[in-house]
Amino acid sequence: MSRKMNFYAGPSTLPLEVLEELKNNIADYHGEGYSIVEASHRGKVYDQLHNETVDLLKELMGIPEGYSVLFLGGGATLQFSMVPMNILSAGKTADYVNSGAWGGKAVKDAKKVGKVNVLFDGKDSNYSSLPAASEVKPSADSAYVHITSNETIGGLQWKEWPSTGDTPLVADMSSDILSRPVPVEKFAMIYAGAQKNLGPAGATIVIIRDDVWKNAPSDLTAYLSYKTHAEKNSLYNTPPVFSIWGINLVLKWIKKHGGAEAMAERAAKKSQLLYNAIEESEGFYRCPVDPNNRSTMNVIFRLPSEELEAKFIKEAEARGMLGLKGHRDIGGCRASIYNSVPPKDVEALVEFMKSFANQQA
Ligand SMILES: *Cc1c(COP(=O)(O)O)cnc(C)c1O
Repeated sequence: MSRKMNFYAGPSTLPLEVLEELKNNIADYHGEGYSIVEASHRGKVYDQLHNETVDLLKELMGIPEGYSVLFLGGGATLQFSMVPMNILSAGKTADYVNSGAWGGKAVKDAKKVGKVNVLFDGKDSNYSSLPAASEVKPSADSAYVHITSNETIGGLQWKEWPSTGDTPLVADMSSDILSRPVPVEKFAMIYAGAQKNLGPAGATIVIIRDDVWKNAPSDLTAYLSYKTHAEKNSLYNTPPVFSIWGINLVLKWIKKHGGAEAMAERAAKKSQLLYNAIEESEGFYRCPVDPNNRSTMNVIFRLPSEELEAKFIKEAEARGMLGLKGHRDIGGCRASIYNSVPPKDVEALVEFMKSFANQQA
């Protein structure tokens, strides 16, 4: 089998050993005589997997007492609605940082639920920079402050976290969860779709402080209330079993490779290789993102023309490097280098970038 080098933004690559483990146990789950995807989510085999996955996430992220971990459906996108529905009480304002495509979508949905104040809008810099953490100040009647820890399309990442005092801080960490240590106690809630850093698509991880879900309004329908899921350990309805199984295996892989600190080192090294190659190309490659906010997960770059970009992407594909085309909304190129992307694939990409630039000279 020859595996391609996968730089897709999401879904994205998974460790080969995780895929092998899924394959080897898909029909007969560890000798049970049935597949985990055929098992009752009320039975003890699934129960063990479910609770082990919650515990692994708590351990690897250092989630303190007083928080619940939920596995929900609907992607991170459903959280754009659930967050304001559950936390934006009447008469209050939700503060949002609009840092790009994903932050913008969160704002758009929240506005349909209640009053929104955009604390910062990156529009003027074409979404190439973030505010300083110290500039993020909640409004007087703030229900919460919402940020996007890593803008997957724009290639921006928060390096320091705002301090919002008693105002709950909520973060969409879909594209950089577990790529670095995070002080969970600073956040009232963290959410992330699984399919970038944690596993196959299907489950959305919600880490939520207990006082926050306990205060959910009682007029929400069952699924849309965090309370429903928190009180039932995410087993109110059928959870996305296959995705949770994959998350379990990816978490074990992260643990085996040294946990969040080791992932941060790995991400820093891989991203530095690419940013250095861009800086050293004498202007052939350009990264439009403010150097203070450059993502270690999604590296954005442009070439001198769209024609060269198309040629670059095509030649990269011929070398087995997939997913380097930038998002259709902004064009250019993007290398997504999540936890599971092997350093050697990034090294191969850097080599190709150098030879491609030389070839055009
Ligand atoms: C991919 C992504 C989303 C959307 O996730 P879905 O699970 O597809 O709904 C939201 N926010 C960020 C930062 C993302 O990268």
